[in-house]
Amino acid sequence: MEEKNLQYYINKYNETNKILRAYGYANYLSNWDAETTAAFGTIQSRNDVVGSLSELSYKLSTSAEYTETIDYLFDHRDELDDILKHEIYEMKKNNEAQKKIPMEDFVAFSQLLNEVYPVYVKAKNEDNYDLFAPYLEKIIEFKKKQIKYLEKDNRFNNYKGYDLLLDGFEPDMTREEYDKFFGVLKEKLVPFIKKVTKKKLKYNKKFLNKKYASSIQFEYAKYLQAVMEFDPNYTVMRESEHPFTTGFGNKDVRITNHYYEDNVRSSIFSAIHEMGHGLYELHVSDEVDASLSGGGASMAMHESQSRFMENMIARKEVFWETHFSKLQEMFPKELKGINYHDFFLSVNEVKRDFIRTEADELTYPLHIMVRYELEKKIFSGKIKVSDLSNEWNKLYKKYLGLKVTNNKQGILQDVHWAYGNFGYFPTYALGSAYAAQFYKALEKDVDIDKAIRSGKLTDINNWLKEHIHKYGASLYPKEIIKKATGEDFNPDYYVKYLIDKYSKIYEIDD
Ligand SMILES: [Zn+2]
Repeated sequence: MEEKNLQYYINKYNETNKILRAYGYANYLSNWDAETTAAFGTIQSRNDVVGSLSELSYKLSTSAEYTETIDYLFDHRDELDDILKHEIYEMKKNNEAQKKIPMEDFVAFSQLLNEVYPVYVKAKNEDNYDLFAPYLEKIIEFKKKQIKYLEKDNRFNNYKGYDLLLDGFEPDMTREEYDKFFGVLKEKLVPFIKKVTKKKLKYNKKFLNKKYASSIQFEYAKYLQAVMEFDPNYTVMRESEHPFTTGFGNKDVRITNHYYEDNVRSSIFSAIHEMGHGLYELHVSDEVDASLSGGGASMAMHESQSRFMENMIARKEVFWETHFSKLQEMFPKELKGINYHDFFLSVNEVKRDFIRTEADELTYPLHIMVRYELEKKIFSGKIKVSDLSNEWNKLYKKYLGLKVTNNKQGILQDVHWAYGNFGYFPTYALGSAYAAQFYKALEKDVDIDKAIRSGKLTDINNWLKEHIHKYGASLYPKEIIKKATGEDFNPDYYVKYLIDKYSKIYEIDD
């Protein structure tokens, strides 16, 4: 009989993961196909196949043998290499969290979510919060119950309440740190945005209401692909309703875009955003990619890379000084008489508005702050669900100076809560803040303007790969930030970055 030692279990673990990966690959391709190419009539047959694959995958990943393997490796984690040690710890933590929720609760919650989604859509379309509220109340009740289960016998951390939900989306980010983060934003950004939005940007706006052929927008996206070195040997770009990035390991990364003929800027910044996500996936080291720790370290880390490229690199004036002429060459009639400075100003215009997903870089974090404050109140029991819509509107008035007049533009605009995702929103703002701190560190090693002027982002990409991307998910975000920037996460960089940038654009001196 084979001896069941450490090597035996590592082999077992790798063998099983190889099969799980194969199931995952089939699932990945099927999703990609569904989102980009497959005809509508394929839904049923695809669902059947995907259902069978998910079942096989679920059976294998919860099998007695695999559980025994993970338990053994977890108990012997000090003998493992760093990548595997981290991976097994996370896996065990997630497994235990999952197991704490009784099966009947889990099933009931899944059924509830299925039931809620169409109600949410109807409530949003009819601008009727009262229709959605009783369902939202049930979701919140379940989340509170989930917190109670997670708090019990927790050997992974001593978080309580809402912190456990926050930790589920961004490891070890708790209310204490988010409070500090949003506190800085509230104090510094709210008054600054008031000053900015009192002013108007003057530039030639003639190009904004022209029509831009989709096929040429796609050609420009291909041009940007070369600028960003989003290697076509390992990547593809297609179209879908909403832009997204997906991938399978560091050799197969795919992004989509959506081309609006009346808005040339949308596809440009979507492409850059998604390529920012994609480069992160491509640059994971082969060693990490071979484990289950490929991909990004967290939600906020992933968003930090996409927003870094989209906002901090591609919304810089020097970027358009370098790449506007190509756009003008492709759209000579539409962009006649426009210069790169006009274009640069147009992509940095600040507007206080109702909808988070359409917000500019400066006001964006305030939208997140509103959601964070509400979530805190929900889980400290300080607010009734029936009052949430009013409270939402009050906070929009307070922070964005806007009078919300309907729930469609208010509390019903985001689907996250209808999916039970509480604790998710803060990672969006956090990602931008990580990005600002990375930018500061990058600046010490690389002449950023010169790198952009060279026409390709080689020097910037190399830095990101070396200091952030190569680690994949084999380290925690906090560890990567410390390694890459030499210090702990500090929200001041973000606030300073925003205030410096927009003071210059809007010519505000104090
Ligand atoms: Zn993103």
